[in-house]
Amino acid sequence: MDLMEKITSLAKRRGFIFPGSEIYGGIQGFWDYGPLGVELKNNIKHEWWRTMVYNRNDVVGIDASIIMNPEVWKASGHLDSFTDPLVECKVCHQRVRADNKEAIEEHKESHKDEIIEWTESKLFNLMTEVFLGVTEPKQKAYLRGEITQGVFVNFQNIVYSTRIKIPFGIAQIGKAFRNEITPGNFTFRSREFEQMELEYFIKPEEKEVERVFEYWKEQRMNWYVGLGIKKVNLRFREHAVSEKAHYARKAEDIEYKSSFGWKEFEGVHYRGDWDLSRHKLIYKDPKTGEEYTPWVIETSGGVDRSLLFFLIDAYSEDKDRKILKLHPKLSPYKLAVFPLLANNKKLVEKARKIFAELRRNFYVAWDDRGNIGKRYFSQDEIGTPWCVTIDFQTLDDNTVTVRDRDTTRQERVSVDNLENYFHNKLVG
Ligand code: ATP
Repeated sequence: MDLMEKITSLAKRRGFIFPGSEIYGGIQGFWDYGPLGVELKNNIKHEWWRTMVYNRNDVVGIDASIIMNPEVWKASGHLDSFTDPLVECKVCHQRVRADNKEAIEEHKESHKDEIIEWTESKLFNLMTEVFLGVTEPKQKAYLRGEITQGVFVNFQNIVYSTRIKIPFGIAQIGKAFRNEITPGNFTFRSREFEQMELEYFIKPEEKEVERVFEYWKEQRMNWYVGLGIKKVNLRFREHAVSEKAHYARKAEDIEYKSSFGWKEFEGVHYRGDWDLSRHKLIYKDPKTGEEYTPWVIETSGGVDRSLLFFLIDAYSEDKDRKILKLHPKLSPYKLAVFPLLANNKKLVEKARKIFAELRRNFYVAWDDRGNIGKRYFSQDEIGTPWCVTIDFQTLDDNTVTVRDRDTTRQERVSVDNLENYFHNKLVG
């Protein structure tokens, strides 16, 4: 089994990610996050928001709607230019993205020795259409293809309501939809996914662009490294002119070295004044009265792609266990609590009490099935960093065993000090 198959199977078996609408045969490009997946996803989003909004003085948040007036997409250029090239196999009529070498090769292989021909490449718009209202003619609208435009169209509302001054940023996390021609590589290319983005507004000065661009590149890379992704698996890659999106003057991707090649999961883009000027929006300096169109540096990350790479990067095996070495801040459960024996009333009662206390502050798993070794392995596989066992010594001296996922080392900690102990580990 290759690594990706192992991850896909673990994700399903342990409740991280399920194929969308599976009991009806699934639907290509859509995935559902299970009980552990939703925790991991929420933790990623929470850490992103904490770093990008709560820990800064110059960034505020927003949560814009998914469906917007279609005029937004006309102005932003998405209706004309948000396209991918598509070719169709003349033998079986399957459509493939023309610039996706992997998919082209895979398709050729599916025809074995047959010689296949492709149609001319055609540009295909990625925006997903929806129809609003109940009477004909229904109003055509779009599910947003990027979350970004919700920030730009609210630019003035945000400036007036918060009095925030340039340079400043607006952060947002939310769903985006793209009619991808060839979804694949598990959740990597989906048709529904979540983005986490910052639009950072600066004065229109060339010297500022370079500095701010480099600053955000570094911030974003540090964020992934700080949450445990191995540095050797990360790199920046600058876009060639032909690759750049219609709005981007300069673009660099943060890429992950996956089993299917180096792949983008976050882009840092210099969008210039493209969006604000298309929406005819300006900024007025409250002190000097100077009016101008700010320039924008954007950091645009995918929640689902980063979750996939956090999972892949954390996965490891030793001789008898599979371990997800997730950063504790991201782990779905922070702790698991076990009574040593499930059939000893005193142990179970004590363990239940400790469990109830710990879960006031942490998301805690409970397990009293099988033997302790099996319970440890089961928690290792889902990334729980610490397991707490209540044994006979606990009844004597009010201490428990805390076992560490990565080192498997165990230490005794007083029950009175447990909450502090884990709090320090998680914050420190
Ligand atoms: P790609 O070249 O892989 O299609 P992109 O350059 O079009 O990606 P952006 O428009 O820069 O992607 O979007 C920003 C981020 O949104 C990406 O780095 C990625 O993490 C996420 N993203 C984009 N498209 C998808 C998708 N189809 N499925 C999952 N995540 C996506």
